[in-house]
Amino acid sequence: MIQVEDIHGVRAFRMARDILGRGLYWTAAYWVDGLLIDTGASSMSREFREATGSLPIVGVVNTHWHEDHCGNNGLLQWVRGVKIQAHPLALPYLARPRLMGLQLYRRFVWGYPLPSQAEAVGPAIATRSHRFQVISTPGHSPDHVSLYEPERGWLFSGDAYAGGLSPVFCRDFNVYQIIASLKTLARLRARFLFTGSGHVVEWPQRALEAKIAYLEETQEKVLRSYKEGQGLQEIRRRVLGSEHWIRFVTLGHFSVANLVWAFLEDPESPVRVKESRM
Ligand SMILES: [Zn+2]
Repeated sequence: MIQVEDIHGVRAFRMARDILGRGLYWTAAYWVDGLLIDTGASSMSREFREATGSLPIVGVVNTHWHEDHCGNNGLLQWVRGVKIQAHPLALPYLARPRLMGLQLYRRFVWGYPLPSQAEAVGPAIATRSHRFQVISTPGHSPDHVSLYEPERGWLFSGDAYAGGLSPVFCRDFNVYQIIASLKTLARLRARFLFTGSGHVVEWPQRALEAKIAYLEETQEKVLRSYKEGQGLQEIRRRVLGSEHWIRFVTLGHFSVANLVWAFLEDPESPVRVKESRM
């Protein structure tokens, strides 16, 4: 299913796999002044093509190479000859999506993207009426970028601000980089935050700061508990509560335990963990 809305001068496309009439895991693409920011998932390619068919699209920029954000790159490139730009680290994955090695649940919900040949994005993108700063915001993925248009205060954050204050965390994320990227975004003092799930937040400062505070407080508790000698399961239970069902659906790719692990195991962590992953 796809929902189209014009909001604060931007056209938003919200897409989800339809399960019994309900959307499962929303993802978003945004169009403004001929620029398309992300292209949704290939499992929604028919709806996406219909929804964008009458729009002039001068170029595409991907916030990152996850399959729910670049899924229809190839369609737009083949059918309309659209130029695609992304972070240099994303280019091999966009050209050969099988390198992504998607887990079964991701193949079911979003599917592999259609391959595309993209160019490395520079520090800014100009459209006819706007100039977007391209800001490196890694952590959710190494290649992640956000786009900021200072005149209008539009901030397109991809998945850099994802998950709200939930402790559910992906094994592939780097939590220290996520915190640093959230601080980068908070310093912009944007007027509108257009998230990768389609949620649009006006005056997002408080929401960004709340997420930074939540992660930093959790970091402090996790590291203190570890130094006191608590086991990893015990830290997860005491600091973050019970495990989430999504751990079983994703075979551990997403879980609450992953957030404990991230604070201990990411390269930036001040401790060196000897236990094996939960
Ligand atoms: Zn993502």
